[in-house]
Amino acid sequence: MKLEVDRGRLSKEIDELALISDAEGPAVTRIVFTPTDLRARSWLIARCEEAGLAVRQDPIGNIFARWTGSEPSAPAVGTGSHIDAIPNSGKYDGVVGVLGGLEAIRALRRGGFEPRRSIELLVFTSEEPTRFGIGCLGSRLLSGAMSAEAARNLKDKEGVSLEEARQTAGLKGQLEEVRLGKGYYKGFVELHIEQGPLLEQQRIPLGIVTQIAAPATLRMTVEGAGGHAGGVLMPDRKDALCAAAELILAIESLAKASGAKDTVATVGICDVFPGAVNSIPSRVRFTVDLRDISLARRDSILRKIEGSLQSVSAERQVSIQTEQLNADAPGECDRAIVEVLSQSCKKHQLMSIPMVSRAYHDSLFMSHIVPAAMLFIPCRNGYSHRPDEYAAPTDIERGVSALAETLATLAS
Ligand SMILES: [Zn+2]
Repeated sequence: MKLEVDRGRLSKEIDELALISDAEGPAVTRIVFTPTDLRARSWLIARCEEAGLAVRQDPIGNIFARWTGSEPSAPAVGTGSHIDAIPNSGKYDGVVGVLGGLEAIRALRRGGFEPRRSIELLVFTSEEPTRFGIGCLGSRLLSGAMSAEAARNLKDKEGVSLEEARQTAGLKGQLEEVRLGKGYYKGFVELHIEQGPLLEQQRIPLGIVTQIAAPATLRMTVEGAGGHAGGVLMPDRKDALCAAAELILAIESLAKASGAKDTVATVGICDVFPGAVNSIPSRVRFTVDLRDISLARRDSILRKIEGSLQSVSAERQVSIQTEQLNADAPGECDRAIVEVLSQSCKKHQLMSIPMVSRAYHDSLFMSHIVPAAMLFIPCRNGYSHRPDEYAAPTDIERGVSALAETLATLAS
């Protein structure tokens, strides 16, 4: 089979899709179920139909575009990503995996490949959390990581529920129907820009993801006692900020002491109440983002944080409440697919290295229900989620070649 990727056409399509945006170019803003998002979806569906694929949408708006194989009932091979974009971002995040996946399918067709298993392009709804505050809505529902009930009740800032938004978008059926049946996919591969600088720095065209890190997010509230900054003497204080500071440093130490470079902990928000120069802080709220590729290690640190919390609370006589906002399990990529990806790179004389995905993707949720893996291509300076995000056409072409080769192997 002769595999030729049409780099020019793919670049043109990436540019064309970038014009369907609520931001002025080169920035892209495309938020789920807005008129702009719906226009982008129609544009994409038309491209898939042009390519001869059978298109359907599920009740959350995940788009499935299928090239039916000679054994239509055999589990299919999937590829895809997302086309929604956070405000003022770039045109490659997600899109490379969607339009690149479509071009991989077209290249296989042009090369005369005849798949035994069906090959399906899957475009996930709302990978970005912009509108409903939680990312990967489509893949969470496909994998069962989120219940239909929980999804229905999500609301955007205007108070519009996900249920209303999807119905207004014309999506039929019940969210319960979204969950994928067992054995739907034989395997799933997502092509994506790295969103980090490693491939570019090492001048390596492709990264094969072996593990996808996942965060546990906590919100902690420390309640102490306020008072006048002059009137209350030090022995009598229950300063909520000092307690929070001690806890934040304890969290940093626990992450550093985990013994693995993949453990990272971040406190990115800290609100101090009442927030006056001459007032002892009575209440502090802060968030903790703790990530790892090992669920066991991450959860053991969560337990240790609980221990620090109790000792700080006892010593400083403050109360500390913890709310767990999410705790998705990290993902393991499928070893067999990782091997196929590596062989595909070799076949096209492309260097590749194994990588950890530190951002999370729809493939994280897919990896919990089907054998899945990811393929990264370099992006300039590692920039992503900003208008100057850029991936070179040759790098995209290499990614699409390796992807097409992989899909062919898996579908044979
Ligand atoms: Zn993405």
